Amino acid sequence: MEYRLLAEIFSKIESTTKRTAMTNFLSELLGKTPPDLIDKVVYLVQGKLYPDFLGIEIGMAEKLVIRAVSLATGLSAREIEEDLSRTGDIGDTAYEELRKAKPEIKEPLTVSDVYTALDRIAKTAGPGSIEVKINMLAQLIKRAIPLEAKYIARTVTKKLRLGVADMTILDALAIVYGGGRQSRPAVERAYNVTSDLGAVAQAIARGGVEAVKKFKVTVGKPIRPMLAERLRSPAEILAKTGGECVAEYKYDGERVQIHKQGNDVILFSRRIENITNQYPDVVQLVQNTITADSAIIEGEIVAFDPETNEMRPFQELMRRRRKYGIEEMVKEFPASIFYFDCVYESGRDLTGLSFPERRKVLERIVKRTDRARIVEHKIVRNVDEMEKFFEESVQSGTEGILCKSIGPESIYQAGSRGFLWIKFKREYRSEMTDTVDLVVVGAYYGRGKRAGVYGSLLMAVYSPDTDTFKTITRLGAGFTDKDLAELPKMLEPYKIEKRHPRVEAKEKPDVWFVPAVVLEVIGAEITLSPLHTTGFNIFRPDSGLAIRFPRFTGRYRLDKSPEDATTEREIIEMYESRLRKVA
Ligand code: ATP
Repeated sequence: MEYRLLAEIFSKIESTTKRTAMTNFLSELLGKTPPDLIDKVVYLVQGKLYPDFLGIEIGMAEKLVIRAVSLATGLSAREIEEDLSRTGDIGDTAYEELRKAKPEIKEPLTVSDVYTALDRIAKTAGPGSIEVKINMLAQLIKRAIPLEAKYIARTVTKKLRLGVADMTILDALAIVYGGGRQSRPAVERAYNVTSDLGAVAQAIARGGVEAVKKFKVTVGKPIRPMLAERLRSPAEILAKTGGECVAEYKYDGERVQIHKQGNDVILFSRRIENITNQYPDVVQLVQNTITADSAIIEGEIVAFDPETNEMRPFQELMRRRRKYGIEEMVKEFPASIFYFDCVYESGRDLTGLSFPERRKVLERIVKRTDRARIVEHKIVRNVDEMEKFFEESVQSGTEGILCKSIGPESIYQAGSRGFLWIKFKREYRSEMTDTVDLVVVGAYYGRGKRAGVYGSLLMAVYSPDTDTFKTITRLGAGFTDKDLAELPKMLEPYKIEKRHPRVEAKEKPDVWFVPAVVLEVIGAEITLSPLHTTGFNIFRPDSGLAIRFPRFTGRYRLDKSPEDATTEREIIEMYESRLRKVA
């Protein structure tokens, strides 16, 4: 098959924005493609050589392409550069230069020629590889007609944007090889369970619909993730889920799809990129905590610190998104994993099972540890239960909850956003810009690195109306090693057996103190919480206010008496003023 045919159809596709026209051009192309080439043609249509999850990219800089075009045509790099600044498009420039130079073309380029050359370019690495890549590209362009050079140049620079969506390719495959639209669901399912359009195309071209129906969930091939719809109130959610559902904490981290075969582990991101190298600590957690020999599990990677029981902000996790210096980042921002679904286990595809059945498998194969857990969940049957669970969830540092259907229809719908999962996010919140001064009223023993010192402190505001101290947060962040070592000594004189009568609390810390020591704290926002007594019952029954992501600023306010601390009223005002702004 000649590459020229591909280039001509690319050109036609570019000339339209209508999806039906695009599908027709694509059907024409795929209908003319021999089955053993069709996977490659499908990847080339998308400007790729392989499915994304393999992570093999061409990605040559325009500068290098200019040098290759110069070698191929004999035109100076300078002249080509000038043309490029005029056209602004490397493809159009390659097209013009080839027209100008009129190189002598002996044999037509085939799709295989082009694919093989691009594949070699993509895989050439190491010292001196740049010159090799330029030469290989120059050889290819020398053999190309102008229209072919245009698309080759765009492909190698990752600028081939024909705008052909995955779904359009699936439509065309169903039409050409599946006997029509009725086979579309089968084709789409094959794609959803393998994320590999090329493999689906090849199967249907060779064996028709029957062949794609045989596609199975396989370790090593990512499944396209199931996504959640969104509703605004617990009542709406319960109405959609038939009056009951499982509510789960919605952790604010990075979604991960874990493929495990023996000791081999691959991690795929939500966008189906291979992120295994970024998370060596998660790989190890999986090896130690998933007992099944082979499994595909979904979870959320979170910057959670089990020593202080604290959920760290999403931004900290994002610091882990890098290619180099991974070891240091693992130390600085260690990750934890919260598993929430299992779609395959020891040869069994679980996507057709209901959510409670999948969850049972998950519970059976996970050995829980501090850093590897199954998400917090609860069956909820009414609005109150759901609201309470939501507040608990937000208070622990999450974004809200995910409500999941539990009836027989609650299968894993790969690649689709539907109402079997519904998210309900934090909306009542108030961002904090000012620091607050809080009183230490209790402490929790530390574990791990913090063994022997306090892991976190229970903090309170002052209420002049009742002359009491009301709790507002658990503070574990912002302390240096020196602070941690000194705090027990500093607080020792105030240690008491039971809660101080002037302290109002729902939490039960390991140690209680007489309210005395004041610390300056900055938080991210104020939220509703059933766990703290500040502003209790004011904004919502059975709920108080809490500070999320509190951090010690390093300032001990020894100049302040506990009665000089931030008052309950000030916190209520901060919360209210922000709500007004949001409204
Ligand atoms: P968002 O920005 O709200 O995370 P999204 O489009 O990435 O949206 P959605 O499907 O709408 O994804 O929301 C579910 C997301 O929430 C998942 O992709 C996952 O990253 C995260 N998540 C956190 N906790 C859970 C949980 N218990 N179950 C499923 N997903 C969870």
